[in-house]
Amino acid sequence: MKKIALSLCLMAVTTIFAQEHINCGEGQHLESFYEDYPEALIEQEYLNELAQNYNSSNRSDRDIVTIPIVFHVNDPSDPEKVTLAQVLSAIDILNEDYNALNPDFSYVRSEFEDLRSDIGVEFCLASIDPEGNPTTGITYHVNSYNGREPDGYGSSVKGVEVWPTHEYLNIWIVNETEDDGSLYNSGWAFLPSDYWDDANLDGIVYNHRYLGYGEGSSEVSGTDSWQAHMARVLTHEVAHYFNLRHTFYNYCSSPGDFCDDTPYVFYHGSNNCEQLGEKCDGVALVNDENYMDYTPCPRMFTLDQKDRMLAALSSEVARRNNLWTIGNLEATGCYVNDVSIEENASVEAIITANPQPIINRVEINYSNFAEGKYTMNIYNALGGKSLLKQEHLLNKNGKIELDLSELNAGIYFLSFENEEGENHVLKLIKN
Ligand SMILES: [Zn+2]
Repeated sequence: MKKIALSLCLMAVTTIFAQEHINCGEGQHLESFYEDYPEALIEQEYLNELAQNYNSSNRSDRDIVTIPIVFHVNDPSDPEKVTLAQVLSAIDILNEDYNALNPDFSYVRSEFEDLRSDIGVEFCLASIDPEGNPTTGITYHVNSYNGREPDGYGSSVKGVEVWPTHEYLNIWIVNETEDDGSLYNSGWAFLPSDYWDDANLDGIVYNHRYLGYGEGSSEVSGTDSWQAHMARVLTHEVAHYFNLRHTFYNYCSSPGDFCDDTPYVFYHGSNNCEQLGEKCDGVALVNDENYMDYTPCPRMFTLDQKDRMLAALSSEVARRNNLWTIGNLEATGCYVNDVSIEENASVEAIITANPQPIINRVEINYSNFAEGKYTMNIYNALGGKSLLKQEHLLNKNGKIELDLSELNAGIYFLSFENEEGENHVLKLIKN
């Protein structure tokens, strides 16, 4: 039992915003943990060294990192209360935060402006499952497991459904992330280790109350809530999965969080984005706007944090480097360019679908088309055979109504091709 308790403290980085203290004495147990699991120490030392030598500015534009995600939603009675719109909103938030597109990125206090980084990682809701079938990227399960039972690792809920952990980032959505009866802990994640990948336990456990802003999302983290920032805790958990520590890791002691440009900081429940509380010697300002702090104003990662995450993603530890290979992106439906319906257009046409996600019927509005005859096709994420083919004589602007009740839930592509070979494409999501 000692081993389990120690490893839990080291490798499962817990985020509990509802409490004002860290529930896990990571530092004091490190030494004995590494005695028990020397391979974990070697992995972490290796990743530290990799991060020290990693320079993301050497990356080329071709090295776009895309991470396929699957959500496994668990609930005792109604898992489908977590909607596709809510999940897509969560993906949108990740894509904003990891590409410096979050609305408050420009509000970062001036002293930290030059340290802000654009991580350049994109996230994709998987549209092909491990068997090669189309999927919405969400699985639903009725059970009352919390996120930890029975062993502290969440083996119960993770055993209900897990997709290969080196092919998908698995996110298990639950009602209760810890095993303590509280419904308001936000989530937790493992740092990269082969141990978790081999055991099919790698990934993130997350509270449905803090997931996204879309239809079905909770008033706890809704856009109008005083806790709206809680929907961005997933950004924090993903960063743990990418090997980041809290900025207050090791408090005022070297090496802190292993990133040179994040100031040393006490864990400061009182420092509510106002630079309150005691500071470490030599630190004038703490980076309380960092996603890896516990404050309600998260809006940036630093340059060193970027290097550390990209180093972990380029390493074979837990096979993080497999997630974003072209082969894996093709297999998970996240390499859209491979679908044989690539956009080819000389004019900037606009196509929208309402509603999206689609229930049964959908209205397609288009504008700025070249007038003429078009062949319209709908393909699934694998491309291949058209699932619905129609011919239309189209004006410059107009609308078409379609009945898609026959299609299974999943991600599809609607394509309009005219006689000149111009092709306009729209991604459709069917609930
Ligand atoms: Zn955390």
